Amino acid sequence: MEKADIGLIGLGVMGSNLALNIAEQGNRVAVFNRTTERTTEFVQSAGALTDRIVPCETIEALAEAIRPPRPVILMIKAGDPVDQQIAHLREVLGKGDSIIDAGNANFRDTLRRFSELKDSGLTFIGMGVSGGEEGARHGPSIMVGGAENAWKRVEKVLVSISAKFEGEPCVAWLGPDGAGHFVKTIHNGIEYADMQMIAEIYGVLRDGVGLEPKEIGGVFGAWNTGRLNSYLIEITEKVLMAQDPETGNPMVDMILDRAGQKGTGKWSVIEAQTLGIPATAIEAAVAARVVSSMKGEREKAQEVYGKLDSGALAGDRAALLNHLELALFAGKIAAYAQGFTVMAAASKEFGWNLPLPTIAKIWRAGCIIRSQFLGTIAEAFQAGGAEDNLLMAPAFVTMMKEAHPSLRHIVARASEAGLPVPALASALAYFDSYRQARGTSNLIQAQRDFFGAHGFERIDAEGAYHGPWGSGLSA
Ligand code: NAP
Repeated sequence: MEKADIGLIGLGVMGSNLALNIAEQGNRVAVFNRTTERTTEFVQSAGALTDRIVPCETIEALAEAIRPPRPVILMIKAGDPVDQQIAHLREVLGKGDSIIDAGNANFRDTLRRFSELKDSGLTFIGMGVSGGEEGARHGPSIMVGGAENAWKRVEKVLVSISAKFEGEPCVAWLGPDGAGHFVKTIHNGIEYADMQMIAEIYGVLRDGVGLEPKEIGGVFGAWNTGRLNSYLIEITEKVLMAQDPETGNPMVDMILDRAGQKGTGKWSVIEAQTLGIPATAIEAAVAARVVSSMKGEREKAQEVYGKLDSGALAGDRAALLNHLELALFAGKIAAYAQGFTVMAAASKEFGWNLPLPTIAKIWRAGCIIRSQFLGTIAEAFQAGGAEDNLLMAPAFVTMMKEAHPSLRHIVARASEAGLPVPALASALAYFDSYRQARGTSNLIQAQRDFFGAHGFERIDAEGAYHGPWGSGLSA
């Protein structure tokens, strides 16, 4: 039988769609899934693409079915399962073959796996794939990390299956070892912030203005034709317009307000903190999901503190909507600025030399945060001025100057009305702190010196000093 070009392990939601995508692009793909029935079902459902799919019942058979040098994609549950599969693949693959972990791995696991496979003769690629089920099937955004020569061997097939933005493939080799999985993690962190800020604006319109889901959907639909144009705004409109087939009520009203998370948002926050980079909007978004999970406690707290008065923000609707659109835009700018700053810091820390404009470009299609806005980010990095922070790029200075007064207005009005807008408020606080030349940590330094003799720097002289705190600590 003709050998396959590539192998794929894991026929869950992502793997099965990715396998169909690979086959559709003219590649022969050998597939294996731990539960064999799933493989059988998959092949039966593959329709016209069946001819290009080689089902395998064992990993040994999978290895046999691929033409050397053999690339094998792992698209399985992250964590221990990946280590188990790698251990098994080491037994059946040989020199020059590649293992490509395409799941949502913690990049620190990817770094460890690189080091474990260093002398094995196998090459390893840590590959972030974004776009969910639809992306996997018709073109995801793909973030590749590993040795450049390993990437070269799989470039053709990855380019063929990736999303395209105006013809440009949304896949790139981003750097060695953990670079791809790190970038995917930050992508997801930004996604958390983006989604949370959209949900906060929905909350203002629902509870502050008293609009019905369909009306709010209309607002998002209108915004999707302007500066906020993006996949997330597009699906938000669709979600808000949908009707529950069971009750006839708006679907969104029938969904419990308790959101789950799988870890990439939390990892973004942990890595940002470890690198010493503020990513406050992402942190707020992760925390908001945690608070959302405390449904029972929130119900009790509402009984104790009372329910908000709905409609506190009703009034000049056109003006409010204009402020909301700009507030969301300003919050989004701050969140993306944070995410890209975290990536820039990681790039230095791990010696990755991450191509930030390329990252923005490969997120323009295929992934969940895809938007025109990412093109503007790519241009800003290319034009220069964003080296320290996207907020300093000339194009972003102009946009932020226009938008931040509205973010301020909305955060203030929402806070007065008791409406939680934690990600928007964090984005605003970040911006206000970032652009304040003289902050307040002179007082923090004095306090630290007072209780711990940590010393401080003066504004008018070099060196370390102590203050006249009356305990003999003065310089
Ligand atoms: P899924 O539908 O739950 O499928 C999980 C797959 O992992 C199945 O093929 C399962 O095999 C396999 N698996 C689980 N434990 C295993 C083990 N110990 N040994 C071997 N195989 C094992 O998951 P998914 O949504 O496709 O996600 C796969 C990966 O892609 C994850 O890392 C996920 O985070 C990432 N990802 C998901 C999305 C998304 O939108 N869903 C987007 C981007 C990335 P069985 O059939 O035998 O259980």
